[in-house]
Amino acid sequence: MSIAVIGGGAAGMMAAAAALESGAEVCLYEPNRLLGKKLRITGKGRCNVTNNCAPEEILKNVISNRKFLYSSVYKFTPEDCIAYFEGLGVPMKTERGRRVFPVSDKAADVSDALENYITDMGCKIVRARVNDIIIKDGKACGVVTDLGEKEHSAVIVCTGGVSYPGTGSTGDGHRMAKRLGIEVTPLKPSLVPIVLYDRTGHLMGLSLKNVRLSVYLGDKEIIGEQGEMLFTHFGISGPLVLSASAHMQAASVDSYRMEIDLKPALDNETLDKRLIQDLQKYAAKDFINSLGDLLPSKLIEEVVERCGIDPRKKSGEVSKKERAALLDTLKHFKLTPKSFRSLDEAVVTAGGIDTKEIHPATMMSKSYEGLFFAGEIIDVDAYTGGYNLQIAWSTGRKAGESAAEYSFEIEG
Ligand SMILES: Cc1cc2nc3c(=O)[nH]c(=O)nc-3n(C[C@H](O)[C@H](O)[C@H](O)COP(=O)(O)OP(=O)(O)OC[C@H]3O[C@@H](n4cnc5c(N)ncnc54)[C@H](O)[C@@H]3O)c2cc1C
Repeated sequence: MSIAVIGGGAAGMMAAAAALESGAEVCLYEPNRLLGKKLRITGKGRCNVTNNCAPEEILKNVISNRKFLYSSVYKFTPEDCIAYFEGLGVPMKTERGRRVFPVSDKAADVSDALENYITDMGCKIVRARVNDIIIKDGKACGVVTDLGEKEHSAVIVCTGGVSYPGTGSTGDGHRMAKRLGIEVTPLKPSLVPIVLYDRTGHLMGLSLKNVRLSVYLGDKEIIGEQGEMLFTHFGISGPLVLSASAHMQAASVDSYRMEIDLKPALDNETLDKRLIQDLQKYAAKDFINSLGDLLPSKLIEEVVERCGIDPRKKSGEVSKKERAALLDTLKHFKLTPKSFRSLDEAVVTAGGIDTKEIHPATMMSKSYEGLFFAGEIIDVDAYTGGYNLQIAWSTGRKAGESAAEYSFEIEG
């Protein structure tokens, strides 16, 4: 009898591959026409497959329940992951921050390679939504789809989180698990854009590179990182913002303060020298026309307004005190966070199947034999940098191998 894999995303395809490699038959259920619909949009369509680091570094970048992942991540490490995809004919490269991408820069290559591999290995792909898991005598032994009931030796649930529901991850797996009495921890957005109280419509589309974004709670900086961010009509997004959001509590986003250091490479003294130089260079021009060498044009008006210097004052007449105010605005560009954008827009879902419900060494449910979980459906989530996909690959492999072993055991 075959193993059912519910969900043809990253974890599901990897679980199928591992079970097939162990010699099991696999039937994968996926209602989308395309497998890996979310995988195909990862890393802005380039797919940050993993992070080229040691397993303990992966675990350090896991936000919730990192201990649970110890066994699976050590069994299938980033090094194994890179070798695996290269073995499937997708060469990999490592970029800044040890982020690993396919050399082709095409996420579709990663998804297609896995799909072709499992199809060639004989995986049966059924384009149907699974509505329920059949349990008999405390064991998972089949699934119910719109096409009817189907018996299976084991069931692996890989239906993902609830973010970006357009890709198919709509929380079905959580609902099926809840109906079986399995604990699901509250689902919250993680790696999510932030809505600001500040007016940002006029800055929409402005992308800032090499800035430092800091988040404060009271006087304490809870996270400060350098990189790239983006202004939107509602507030801010981009890699720095998504990372920062993972350090903030969803329920009290408005209790934090945020600041951008627009010139993190220059200390105050060096920046002041630079300001003197630019103000002298444009001495005869209005102050508002003297910042073009220093700032993107979309930001100039905002900075001028914030520092309180008369925009029509001649640059040569800007006083030392006013220059200090300008410097302060550039080094401490304040933002007032209001809330997170919705779960739909989060890159990952925090919360999910309670890790206490799953054996970490096999990914099997503690309540039902033959029922396995893998990927984002589990209450684990990590920072940006390829860590979330590594979780999907590692837990997917573990679930696939364990389900195959279990199936052989029960079938004698
Ligand atoms: C925009 C974006 C960019 C990202 N970029 C990166 C990145 O570069 N690197 C990184 O590490 N992580 C990234 N992530 C996170 C990463 O994509 C996810 O953590 C990962 O895809 C989770 O894999 P999964 O297989 O658990 O779930 P998913 O990939 O969501 O797959 C779940 C699958 O289950 C199917 N399904 C759902 N319900 C049913 C049902 N009832 N029956 C049958 N099938 C069902 C869905 O259709 C879907 O195909 C990104 C996420 C987003 C949204």
